[in-house]
Amino acid sequence: MTENNACPIDAFQQRLAQLDETALDQARATLVSKWSYAAEVYARACVHCGLCSDSCHYFLIDPSKESVPAYRLKLVTDVFACHQSKSRKISGARELDRNTVDEWIDCLFGRCTLCNRCGLNCSVGINIAQMIRIGRSVLAASRLVPPELQSTVDAAVNTGNNMAISREEWFETIDWLNGELQQEVGDPQACLPLDRAGATILYAVNPREVKFFPLSLLAAAKIFHTAGENWTFSKEYYDVTNYALFSGDDTIGGMLSSRLIETARKLGVRTLVLGECGHGFKATRWDAPEWLGQTPDIEIKSVLEVVEDYIRQGRIRLDPRLNSKRVTLHDPCNLVRNGGIVEQSRAILKAGVSDFVEMIPNRLQNYCCGGGGGQLSMTRYAKRRLAAGKVKADQIAATGAKIVVAPCHNCIDQLSELNRDYKLGVEVKTVCEMVADAIVGTPAS
Ligand code: SF4
Ligand code: SF4
Repeated sequence: MTENNACPIDAFQQRLAQLDETALDQARATLVSKWSYAAEVYARACVHCGLCSDSCHYFLIDPSKESVPAYRLKLVTDVFACHQSKSRKISGARELDRNTVDEWIDCLFGRCTLCNRCGLNCSVGINIAQMIRIGRSVLAASRLVPPELQSTVDAAVNTGNNMAISREEWFETIDWLNGELQQEVGDPQACLPLDRAGATILYAVNPREVKFFPLSLLAAAKIFHTAGENWTFSKEYYDVTNYALFSGDDTIGGMLSSRLIETARKLGVRTLVLGECGHGFKATRWDAPEWLGQTPDIEIKSVLEVVEDYIRQGRIRLDPRLNSKRVTLHDPCNLVRNGGIVEQSRAILKAGVSDFVEMIPNRLQNYCCGGGGGQLSMTRYAKRRLAAGKVKADQIAATGAKIVVAPCHNCIDQLSELNRDYKLGVEVKTVCEMVADAIVGTPAS
């Protein structure tokens, strides 16, 4: 939300300039309140081995002190040591003051995608991304989230989706897609249902699909139709994204996830199916129970789990010869390393493409594309984001692939920019688009 109707960036600078002791005290209290037993253990565990450095795509491109994951970790833990243990002198303890806030914003928001590749490779198992996110949470509670990221969160809160798409535009897109689907599957009854009570599946998608990539919605609709699925979109809450995961605001994160869960409950559907969005999956499947303090009483699945089941059960049949170009797969960090959806994309692509090649490294050890953690929205750090993306660009080039598949629209945006800047000459597609291109046969009965 902007302050005083000023432009968001001005309001942010103003807020920074006005940071006084009262505001800093509030931030210090938030830090102490956010601290958990796990955080306390992590804070004391670093053995300064330096092994996390080479895990980070920022460090590989810019081996400066600020790019070392353990340095970012220390930025948070040193401040905690200062404010949690006022009476004890702890070496390295650092006051949360204006200088620290500036450095936190630059390092915790501007030099990290929360991909946690560093945490996976930490010699003592510190979840470094989780600690960096605690720092972001403190900044969020002090209204010091970079305004471009905050406005994405605000749009979702105020309009129901992060791109502020109006209901009219949503309905018009669905109307247009109904005609496209009918033509595609040769069935005048085929449609993309809205608010169908009692459907088996409620499907949530990235608003970018509605605005810029409607053909990925068409691909998913073709799959559901062919599988004979009883599915629906919601008229109101269809946004799978949750940028509060990146801003660090747990309250808003819980609220956005609960909208989807509540919508599913009201429609009486059995399963909330999350479209191809890495962070949306992590937020709704794994973080929402934490944020909301309860486990949702509906099933929550990734669309990749659902499509893999359709193939295994014979509900859709694929002819891999229809996808004959060489294909590689990008593993979105929040879906794979931090989400547990590892083999499903591979099983689907192996059934639906004839020349599949892995990037090296892959699966849990994949490199972040550089677009996560809210980086795509924080345009002030775009140069760094694209520079750090060279690690992923080099991985792609080494595969010789003509198509890069990414089951995440955030990653697709970043990969598309890398494709342009590093002249990779590839197409970037979703898993559902590849599946829709390979479908043969008629709808399952
Ligand atoms: S979470 Fe990812 S981007 Fe952030 S410090 Fe670790 S490896 Fe680097
Ligand atoms: S790998 Fe872990 S223990 Fe080693 S320096 Fe990095 S954070 Fe510290």
